[in-house]
Amino acid sequence: MDWDGIQEKLQILSDAAKYDVSCSSSGSRRANQKGGIGNAACSGICHTWSSDGRCVSLLKILMTNYCIYDCAYCVNRCSRETKRAMLTPEEIADITIQFYRRNYIEGLFLSSGVYQSPDTTTELLIRTARLLRDVYHFNGYIHMKGIPGTDERLIRELGQYVDRLSVNIELPSSAGLRLLAPQKTKQSILLPMRAVRAGIAERQEERKKSRKVPAFVPAGQTTQLIIGATPDSDRTILRLSESLYRHVSLKRVYYSAYVPMLHGPGLPELRTPPLLREHRLYQADWLLRFYQFTADEILSDDMPDFDLHLDPKACWALRHPEVFPIEINRASYHMLLRVPGIGVQSARRICAARRQAWLSYDSLRRLGIVLKRAKYFITCRGRYYGGHTGQGEIRRHLLQDEGRSRYEEVDLFSGGTI
Ligand code: SF4
Repeated sequence: MDWDGIQEKLQILSDAAKYDVSCSSSGSRRANQKGGIGNAACSGICHTWSSDGRCVSLLKILMTNYCIYDCAYCVNRCSRETKRAMLTPEEIADITIQFYRRNYIEGLFLSSGVYQSPDTTTELLIRTARLLRDVYHFNGYIHMKGIPGTDERLIRELGQYVDRLSVNIELPSSAGLRLLAPQKTKQSILLPMRAVRAGIAERQEERKKSRKVPAFVPAGQTTQLIIGATPDSDRTILRLSESLYRHVSLKRVYYSAYVPMLHGPGLPELRTPPLLREHRLYQADWLLRFYQFTADEILSDDMPDFDLHLDPKACWALRHPEVFPIEINRASYHMLLRVPGIGVQSARRICAARRQAWLSYDSLRRLGIVLKRAKYFITCRGRYYGGHTGQGEIRRHLLQDEGRSRYEEVDLFSGGTI
């Protein structure tokens, strides 16, 4: 192999891949097999943090940054003058194996521009995956892209080889797609997603009869949404995520704050990426997946966007004074989860402990429940410990706490301790 040429291509194609954040893993638990190399079990894939703070896997590249589409927000769009490169399936497989053997990586995250057509691109991805699995017997983690508009048969074939597939929706509404990515349609994105969901469901049924049947996309499918490139509200985005979790069994939705690097018609004039908005969406997404909230409870017609000063759960609690305070010894698990400051582990611990005894404020402390925020929303044995505070005062305390935790986050990222 011409390593100088490959190195130059790698530089171009890894740089072009850095805006895709849907790469964290994994959930795949396939151990190595006799005669093979690599292992997707337990440790999953290695991650690292890129210089701009994004989580990237160690071999995260595009197969090519040539693209026939012209999505306005994308650095690889066909109308943009930029250095282009393409790696063949043989080159990608060879690099992956060489890097794996040198301990640089534990898996591959391979995305691509649309080269010639969605089907041609997917055929090349399939060839790469087949080489890795069948020729090199690579059992490590492989995450590849489902290209919008690809024929269902090809998606089904690709799903035989990879651990995870992600079809990026990018823009959260049809209007947004028409404005900034006119060659993509909602249908062309949803069809491969549905094909993956159907493949997973069928294979799960077959595996009930025989465990020898190999899993299909065992680590599930994910997608990415760009935040702030279109005028879509946070509610529109959150409702879309909710619908994807319900109807296409998505494992994760990743949110990526729009990085205003390009200019052009339809693109917003932002000075910086809306990172706080991205953070609020991750918090709300967590509430959907683990706290039994619905999107319409978190945001509404009257309040379509997040309060950037306060987290979505605290906002919900402040909007519902009729619900609080709740008695910690009687509240259901569902209601405990709605108390700001009480997480899944704490709610479980409370439910288990109160089967043995009637809990007091001190016994909550002994259980390790953090009461700094929760004390404004609960009673223990009928007693309230939040002081004589009205809604405004509670909000002020929560805001102080939010400011402090954000400071702690920043400090942790800069490597300090407080
Ligand atoms: S299809 Fe993908 S790579 Fe091509 S321009 Fe659109 S976002 Fe960029």
